Amino acid sequence: MKKKVGIIGSGIAGLSSAVRMAARGYEVHVFEANGYPGGKLCEISIGNYRFDAGPSLFTMPEYFEDLFATVGKKFSDYCPYQKLDPITHYFYEDGTRYKTHASAEKSADEMAVQLNGNKKDILHHFENSKKLYELTAETFLHQSIHHYENFSFIDLMKISANLKTLNLFTTMHDINHKKFKDAKLVQYFDRFATYNGSNPYEAPGTLNVIPHLEHNVGAFFPKGGMVSISRSVYNLAVELGVHFHFNTKVNEIKVEKKKVIGLSFNEVKREDNKHIDVAKSEFLPVDLVISNMDVAYTYRKLLPNEKHPEKTLNQPRALSAMVFYLGIKKEFPELGLHNIFFSKDYKHEFDRFFKQQSLAEDLTIYINISSKYEKDDAPKGCENWFVMINTPPHTGQDWDTLIKNARKNIIAKLSRILNEDIESLIEVEDILEPRIIETRNLSWQGSLYGNSSNNKFAAFLRHSNFSSKIKGLYFCGGSVHPGGGIPLSVLSAKIVDDLIPKK
Ligand SMILES: Cc1cc2nc3c(=O)[nH]c(=O)nc-3n(C[C@H](O)[C@H](O)[C@H](O)COP(=O)(O)OP(=O)(O)OC[C@H]3O[C@@H](n4cnc5c(N)ncnc54)[C@H](O)[C@@H]3O)c2cc1C
Repeated sequence: MKKKVGIIGSGIAGLSSAVRMAARGYEVHVFEANGYPGGKLCEISIGNYRFDAGPSLFTMPEYFEDLFATVGKKFSDYCPYQKLDPITHYFYEDGTRYKTHASAEKSADEMAVQLNGNKKDILHHFENSKKLYELTAETFLHQSIHHYENFSFIDLMKISANLKTLNLFTTMHDINHKKFKDAKLVQYFDRFATYNGSNPYEAPGTLNVIPHLEHNVGAFFPKGGMVSISRSVYNLAVELGVHFHFNTKVNEIKVEKKKVIGLSFNEVKREDNKHIDVAKSEFLPVDLVISNMDVAYTYRKLLPNEKHPEKTLNQPRALSAMVFYLGIKKEFPELGLHNIFFSKDYKHEFDRFFKQQSLAEDLTIYINISSKYEKDDAPKGCENWFVMINTPPHTGQDWDTLIKNARKNIIAKLSRILNEDIESLIEVEDILEPRIIETRNLSWQGSLYGNSSNNKFAAFLRHSNFSSKIKGLYFCGGSVHPGGGIPLSVLSAKIVDDLIPKK
């Protein structure tokens, strides 16, 4: 008889785990509280506009190629994607504008001219970022760091010989500030801290590894939009015979003698983004459980009788977000797929997030417009604007007031910089905000990426991909090692696969 695994959640890591476990011959059951796969990686439609609802930047497709290769398939056959050039359009209130490109040389050329930088220094920064990746990826990203036998003597020697390059003891901002004279260039490189929801003024310089992904490897666009990524992994899982239980919420992981024995679950319906039970609880005996639910909620909601690793669960959370989905009845040729409108005072913006748990008036705004590539995402002559700002995680703020003020400030800033009355161009509108992110995806405090990396020990303070107390319990997804974002979430599924004994 086949061994059974129950996977809680069909986020991108849950789907990836489903593929890997089916490939190993397990009978796989995925329980998903929502009515669709993908978790945060999903889409919404408003009138004649389609929007990718969550992630919009796709990096490291090689991790998906690796996933599909485990069953002899090619990711690009299921989800064709293209390399972006240009990558992002940048805008400042003082009129400065530039674009980044697929070629690091070309980006450095343009940035050097527009930001009074030195091309050699910029290229050196990209190169350094690559070095950091090569130094850390194998040891800290591609395997569990909670199994000490995974650390080879050679790895440790290599890392200790390169401690200076790792910049663990200096903040990302301090490194960037020391390297570049122009404040806008510093701001440019500091922004990469937000790629995992962290604060560049606190996070260690090691996070300067992030530009490597975009500048040396590239940014990509999947045909059909970001949702094609989760759909393609879901389709593969279905082909492999995975059983999906949608609108079904797991309410307890049953444990006996410190070993997982099964899952109890309920059929639910979603009302006001909350999941409401509509049927009696059922039970499925399983041999293994992989939780793709936020690890804090996995313990607090599904394992009420077990001892919780409070120190790990209570680490400060990464940033959350507000997204205004706007149907805009005009086309803007100066905008591209990814656009950033920087704030004037970045330090103040991050102090407001992390010290006051609030928002500055002048905010850095990101706009994603998938209709630049997928014409059907908006009516002719129109564009689908995904307008996002970062916010602190949800700790009980007066969000209604914050949203009202942020919306007003965003529209005013975009109208100023684009020299257009944006309010009058809005045809349809919807919003995603921290409270919704929390209840819709069951992500504690609505954090986009689990714990923040605002601390040099953050990598070790993230929960491991297995329970050391309960046999048969594993964890994947953005709230556990190696961290948040699509690429790392997919890697977490590989790590779980490696941890589950092959016999
Ligand atoms: C607005 C926004 C923008 C982002 N931008 C980017 C970006 O540009 N690039 C990038 O790489 N990343 C980005 N991210 C982060 C990225 O989306 C996440 O890190 C990643 O998708 C997390 O995937 P996951 O596997 O952890 O699961 P999640 O997407 O968190 O999904 C977990 C799933 O589990 C289900 N679930 C939870 N508990 C239960 C239960 N008890 N029973 C049944 N089901 C349950 C939930 O319903 C959910 O579907 C963004 C996120 C957001 C919200």
